[in-house]
Parts: sequence; C-alpha cells; structure tokens
Amino acid sequence: MDYKVIGLVAGIEIHQQLDTSEKLFCSCPTTLRDTADHSGEFFRYLRATESEMGEIDRAAQEEMKRERKFRYYTYDTTCLVENDEEPPAPLNGEALAVCLTIAKMFSMTPVPQIHTMRKLVIDGSNTSGFQRTALVALNGTLPNGGRVETICLEEEAAQRVKDDTFSLDRLGIPLVEITTSPCMHTPEEVQQVAEYIGMVLRSTGKVKRGIGTIRQDVNISIAGGARAEIKGVQELDLISEVVKREVQRQEALLAIRDDLRQRGASASPDDVNNVTELFRDTKSTILKKAKIIYAMKLRGFAGHVGREIQPDRRLGSEMSDYAKVCGVGGIFHSDELQAYGITEEEVVHLRQVMQAGDQDCIVIVAGAGEKQAACAVQQVILRAKKALDKNPVPEETRKMLEGGSTAYMRPLPGAARMYPETDVLPVMIDEKRWDAAEMVELLTEKNKRNAARLVDDYKFKNNYAEQVASSEYFPRFEKAIAERVSPDLAASAITRYYPELKRERVDVSKLFIKDEDIAILCVIEKGQAAKEAIPDLFKSVITGSSIQDAIAKLAPAVSREDLEGIVKKIIADRADFVMQKGKAALGPLMGVVMEEVRGSVDGKVVSELLKREIDRVLAGKSR
Ligand SMILES: [Zn+2]
Repeated sequence: MDYKVIGLVAGIEIHQQLDTSEKLFCSCPTTLRDTADHSGEFFRYLRATESEMGEIDRAAQEEMKRERKFRYYTYDTTCLVENDEEPPAPLNGEALAVCLTIAKMFSMTPVPQIHTMRKLVIDGSNTSGFQRTALVALNGTLPNGGRVETICLEEEAAQRVKDDTFSLDRLGIPLVEITTSPCMHTPEEVQQVAEYIGMVLRSTGKVKRGIGTIRQDVNISIAGGARAEIKGVQELDLISEVVKREVQRQEALLAIRDDLRQRGASASPDDVNNVTELFRDTKSTILKKAKIIYAMKLRGFAGHVGREIQPDRRLGSEMSDYAKVCGVGGIFHSDELQAYGITEEEVVHLRQVMQAGDQDCIVIVAGAGEKQAACAVQQVILRAKKALDKNPVPEETRKMLEGGSTAYMRPLPGAARMYPETDVLPVMIDEKRWDAAEMVELLTEKNKRNAARLVDDYKFKNNYAEQVASSEYFPRFEKAIAERVSPDLAASAITRYYPELKRERVDVSKLFIKDEDIAILCVIEKGQAAKEAIPDLFKSVITGSSIQDAIAKLAPAVSREDLEGIVKKIIADRADFVMQKGKAALGPLMGVVMEEVRGSVDGKVVSELLKREIDRVLAGKSR
C-alpha cells in the first residue's frame, strides 16, 4: 500500500519510567511490590473538576457516566502523598536531572520555569483524580527530520490490579513523556522512530527496564479520517502492525460511509421499540436474563454492521464498545443474531414488528434496567450516525487488543483537562542547572565500541560480537567475565538463555538482584551441572529456590555408560526413521534424548554419541 497516497500521518508519545531512588513527589522508593503484600486499603469516588475555563473535559464526562467506587492497596513503601492525604513534596531533583539529559540528547530547549500542572484523570488510576505533569523542554530534533515537540516529567499512574482495584506501589514513579510531531508517514517509519527514542532513553542508563516500564501511544490519521490515539502499546515490534491495522480501520469506515450514503441509510430514535414482550419465552440465555430489551432499526445498515473493519473487529464491535459505557454487556445485531441462540422465527417476528426491509439492520440492546438500556440505545444511535458522517472516523482514545487491533476506550481528551498544581513550587531551569545536565554516549555507539573489544579480547566473530554487545543483558556478560566465567558460556547465556526465558515471560531480572545468575554460571563452569540445565536452574531460583536446592532438583547426572544405553535404545526403537532420514535424523533425535535426560547432560556429548550410533546404523544398511 502506498501510505503517502492515502495521507497517513502519525506521531508518537513515549512514556518511560525513570530508575530514580525516590518517587517524583515523595521520598518513597520506586520499587514495585507483590500485591499480596499490601498492608492496607481504602476507597475513593472520583469526580471531574472544572478546568480554568469552567468546562468539564469530554473524556472525564464520559467516565462519570459510570458511577464507580475505587479501591486502593497501600504498602509499607507508600505514604500519605500517594493516598492524596498529604500535599506533594518538591519535584524530585534526580528525576529532573535525568529529564534534562534526555532533553539535551534531542537538542531541545528547556523552559525557563517548570510549572507542575494537574491533568484530569478519573478512571481510578490516580487517587487524586488528576495526574501531575510538568513541561520541561521543547522543540527537539529526530534523525528522520521530524521533531520532538515536548518532554514532560510526570508521575506514573497506579497499577490496576483487577476491575476497579488499584495498587499504589507504582503511583508516583517518575516518568518522562516524549511527544513527537505528526512527522511519520509509513508504519515502518513509526517503528523506527519509536526504536530510536527508546535507544536514546536507555543510553542514559537511568531508565527502568522490563515489561510495562515503557509504553508508547500512537496517534494515527489518514486523509478524510480523524486522529485516533492508540494507548499503551507495550511491544515495540507491534507498532508498525498497529499502524497498518488503524489505517485499514479508517479506510473501511470511509468505504462503509460511501455505501451507507448510497443506500440513503439513517439512524433515528424514532426507529426504536421496546421488544421485551417479544422475547418473553426466548431460549437465548442472555436475553432471558435481561429486564428490558430494546430494538432499533438502522435503515440501510444491513450487512455493514457485521462488516470487518480490522482483523476480529466489525462496525458492530464499535457500536458495542459505545454501548458498554452504559454498563451493558454489548449489543446484538441482525447480521449475526443466530450466534446468540436467537431462533430464525424470533428474527422473522422481530423484523415484522420493526417493519424492517432487506437493507435494514436490527440492533438489540438488553439491559438490567430502563436507564441502562436507554443509555445504550442512545450510544448505538450516536455511533451509527457517526458512521454516516462526512468524516465517519470518530476522534477517539483506543486501547490495543492482542495482535494489534484496537477497541474504543473514550473520546479524545480536549484541552479542558489541565489546571495548575498549586501545591508544588515552580522550579527554575537556569544556565547552571542546564549546563550540569550531562550528555551521554548513544547506546548504538557504545555497542560498536564494545563489539570491537570482544573481537580483540576473545576472538569473537564480528556478527556474534555485535549480537553480544548490543544485548540488553550485556552488563551481565561483563559481570560474569569479572567472576571468571568463560567468555563463551557468558555470551551464550545472554544471547540464548536470557532471551528464551524472556519469551516465556519469565522475569529474569529477578536473578540480577543478588547476582544469582552469575553464581549459576559459575556452578556450570565448575562442572557441577550441564549447560543444558541453565534454564531449569534459572527458573527454580526465580521461583524462590536456593541454588543448591535447584541443583539437587535436577535430574540426577547420567553416567556415560547409562547415556550410551539410552542413545542405543532410542536409535533401535526408531531404526526405520534413521534409515529413511539418514544423517538428518540427528536433529529430531537430539530432542528426544535431551528430553529423556532432562538436560542433565552436555548437548555436545549427546550429539557425538548420536552421530556415532546413526553412522553405525547407516553403515549396516549399506552392507
Ligand atoms: Zn510516598
């Protein structure tokens, strides 16, 4: 697809947690806790306040449609500032220094005075109903010719535990928010810029690492479409896919609008009926539970409500998201009624009652009460009307679903959500403070330098040296070398074992706190366990075992004699397979043997034995 032709415009906002010792507005530590360890809890109701201009923000207004009671977990590592029961302390100087370094790395201009603002957020993620944010610098440059518009220092939000329960350990961790101009025009470019910014941030050595410590929001629009902000993309490699799918969604909405307009489609409250009676004896379990059922006729919408606009998303999904704001579970529509246990007869009857023609779509809303159902009907009509609009793409904040499709969250916040925080004094950025901010070497440069050193010192091949030096675990390599682990073992640990565990979503960084990973590598070096046991040992220790216990839990070491027996038996059982595959049987059989000995034997030894036995079988065949 030619993204320039369709007028793709994208910008990103990157949120990165800083690895400072204290939080932004109190001296609590920035460590995350296990929610099971919370020492107390309390409740809050949050309401939107008016802005300086006397308006209430539209996103906050929508949030207030749901009346929610929020519960918060407190810890012995949180204080009254997180509870919003004590005014904030002055802005953390360490966090500001890191922020200024980052600003310098992007050639930005600092503001003369930092004023902390309150940004209205009443989704429960903040006990105060607002998030504190401070603009620090403006107008930086990017290698693609685009610009970094702003960098702000913010407090991290509370972590959602479940539904309306939040954990306060994360609230207040310093966060930098970097906003680019809408300067990107292809999905790949968005990905590259996000990667570049992430690299600069990591170059400071002062940012938190691991899942959830960096989040990117992507703003996307195409010609004729509208700005959609996709929140919280955590996997960097998914960004280009997210952009592609958003383009697909906006294009589909434009096409649907054209088709609907050609049919003279319409959505009106006049076409709504109470059909509760009609479904009194229904077999559909969902409808049976409902107190009140409304049906609305969307004239000319047949086929379009069920039309796919993104993988796993239809126009009907968008309507359903709108309706959910009122607390209903979703909607049903005549493009797919049978899927919910509604019978053919019921559909025919429904169409009669609604006087629906072939081109009309019937949408059903089932509510627990009149107010809820009426609210949902209103929302569906609102969304249906938007589909007919000159610009059929609503300005929205959307959340990412698995795979990169997105769902509606709330309208885009307007400008009415900021007002000054009067409890925090402004901070001057004078020349002295700005000059004190250090420039740091870019990671890409540093990696090149380290790779050259690995080639010189350990005779690593160029490619491998680069892979090792650019690994996020390179500091662990250096630490292992310092503890006399051999370079080859240390390198294979960081290029193979750490990434493998990360892919399995095991948090390897837990091993780094007490250098247990290095201790395990030393054990391997001394021959007390085979290299193949590394993943098992890492996992055991991460889940709380001592290293000694973890070794004891491994499969008992297999003697050379036993191993030969195992290999011979496995080959004998699979003689046909060996005949058929010849030498290529080695790979698959390797897996079989390793599974049998549960990694307690060096793979090299197994491979040698297998090769010998396979050769023997093949020699027998030719005889
Ligand atoms: Zn605190």
